[in-house]
Amino acid sequence: MENYYVHKLTDNKGDHEVHVEGCNKMTVSENFKNLGQFSNCRADVAEAKKNYNQVNGCFYCCNECHTQ
Ligand SMILES: [Zn+2]
Repeated sequence: MENYYVHKLTDNKGDHEVHVEGCNKMTVSENFKNLGQFSNCRADVAEAKKNYNQVNGCFYCCNECHTQ
C-alpha cells in the first residue's frame, strides 16, 4: 500500500495530478490533499475523481495512470 495525494490546483491541461508520497514533484505540500492508502494508482484516481472532474496520474510516480 502506498500513501497517495492529489494536487488541489490544476496543471496547464486542467488536470489534478495524483502522486505517491515522496514524489519529488510534490514541492509545496500545502497544495496537496491526502487521499489515503491504496494498493495501486487506479484506485487512487477513482477516489480523486470523487473530488475533482479531471484527474491524471503523475508522469513520474504514477506513470501507469498517466494519460496525455
Ligand atoms: Zn508524482
